Amino acid sequence: MSKTLRLILGDQLNHSHSWFKEKDKNATYILMEVMQEQTYVKHHIQKIIGFFTAMRAFARELKDEGHQVIYYYLDANENQQSFNKNIKWLIKKLSFEKFEYQMPDEYRLDSELKDFCKSVKIKTEVFDTEHFYTSREEVKIFFKGKKQYLMENFYRYMRKKHQILMDLNQEPEGGKWNFDHENRKKYDGKVPLKKPLTFKRDVSDVLNVLTKMEVSFFGNVNAKEFSLPTNREEALELLEYFCHDLLPAFGRYEDAMLKEHLTLFHSSLSFALNLKMLSPQEVINHVISTWRTNQDSITITDVEGFVRQVIGWREYMRGLYWAEMPDFAEKNFLNHKKSLPSWFWDGKVKMNCLKHSINNSLDHAYAHHIQRLMVIGNFSLLAGVSPDEIDAWYLGVYADAVEWVQITNTRGMSQFADGGIVGSKPYVASANYINKMSNYCSGCFYAKEKRHGNKACPFNSLYWNFYLKHEEKLKKNPRISMLYRLLDKMDEEEIHKITAQADHYLQNVNEL
Ligand SMILES: Cc1cc2nc3c(=O)[nH]c(=O)nc-3n(C[C@H](O)[C@H](O)[C@H](O)COP(=O)(O)OP(=O)(O)OC[C@H]3O[C@@H](n4cnc5c(N)ncnc54)[C@H](O)[C@@H]3O)c2cc1C
Ligand code: SF4
Repeated sequence: MSKTLRLILGDQLNHSHSWFKEKDKNATYILMEVMQEQTYVKHHIQKIIGFFTAMRAFARELKDEGHQVIYYYLDANENQQSFNKNIKWLIKKLSFEKFEYQMPDEYRLDSELKDFCKSVKIKTEVFDTEHFYTSREEVKIFFKGKKQYLMENFYRYMRKKHQILMDLNQEPEGGKWNFDHENRKKYDGKVPLKKPLTFKRDVSDVLNVLTKMEVSFFGNVNAKEFSLPTNREEALELLEYFCHDLLPAFGRYEDAMLKEHLTLFHSSLSFALNLKMLSPQEVINHVISTWRTNQDSITITDVEGFVRQVIGWREYMRGLYWAEMPDFAEKNFLNHKKSLPSWFWDGKVKMNCLKHSINNSLDHAYAHHIQRLMVIGNFSLLAGVSPDEIDAWYLGVYADAVEWVQITNTRGMSQFADGGIVGSKPYVASANYINKMSNYCSGCFYAKEKRHGNKACPFNSLYWNFYLKHEEKLKKNPRISMLYRLLDKMDEEEIHKITAQADHYLQNVNEL
């Protein structure tokens, strides 16, 4: 092997990668904390600390295993704060003969590294990250020639291809492919809530560096008791905790929301998965084997619901990203242009559902799927906020936010900015849905049952206003036609009151 520099990005902390099978004295690994990655969007403080702490732990483990590692701290003198500059300088200084990297999961970095390789004179080679079930192109190939990317079809293909939850007759275990309809219970207190597993690490040193380097960030952190898993051991502990303590109620309460509890029965594994500290295969295998040996307490509904998220949605979103980028990042089907309300940044809003969901996000760099989709995303879509602003907020605020999974969920699933690539209709709902799935409405400043008038819940008028405003683009959609029939039956005065109420709220959105 010629003298080689191997780049490891912050979301490539895969211990099982074949690079590490042998200790080669000609291979040097480089990990870098760079300002370049702190400025393309403003990040939540816990996201930055989480990435840096996990990268530091990974570099330490590689060194302990006998690999040669260079680690650039953000405040190191020699750090030129960009991947390209640092790598170029190292190649020259240490006379590397070859540069290798793993395929980045982000379009921006992928292009940057391809260009970089063209600009250097030494040999270069790119490797797979060996993390996902699928290749970058697999989703594109699967849907070639088909009218729509239907996740359910891809999910069934994945189940068959990888023999996950399939019986000996090649039928889905439990007799059904999908138990989605049984994943929609409000939390009824029948299963006691568990205290989330957090890791209580002191990360003051990282916070001090960020402050010293004047990195711009937002959100809150308890630096003495940092909660995210930041090494392999903690990631495995979290997986174990999920399988034994949360999986038995995961399915039934998957869509439920609660004022008093941040995560309910969700796994909180996305951060560890997206940094590749865990592989999706080991997560799925562990979940299924826990179910097989605990069928008295864990049902197929719980397991199938979880498996669908990981081998279905997660792989599908990633494939769709590579199939549709870079055009996807420009899509704005509904031509939405409004600014984000100011309370997205400070959580000071009277709407109880948004107050809880946004403050959860600001305090923990986490919100679970339904808070992201049916509260925060729902409001943003109804209020006509620009997808660019929404993307920047989502990409910054969540610790697990990496563009391939953030933008497809936000611009696609949540904002319908792709005009129906990810979802066949917009995910919008009125107070009725939020009240059905949560306890947010009780004690809210607004009245959940009112469409207009004093303290009417903003979701109600904005919901109907959304359909009225986008009638031309949405009425043809067969999945929405029933709503337009309801609107056709509504009397004119009621419609006038709804639109006047919605206009009033939109003009005063920062005061909601
Ligand atoms: C608007 C919006 C933005 C989102 N942004 C992100 C993001 O930046 N990063 C991210 O990882 N997920 C994102 N998601 C998907 C999902 O909300 C999170 O993966 C999940 O909330 C993470 O929490 P958890 O690990 O407790 O998930 P669980 O509910 O326990 O689910 C298990 C795992 O399934 C995977 N998963 C679940 N739903 C999805 C999905 N829709 N797409 C892809 N994978 C999924 C995740 O890896 C997750 O860890 C977003 C969803 C929406 C609606
Ligand atoms: S009443 Fe409206 S604003 Fe208040 S919590 Fe319910 S849905 Fe949200």
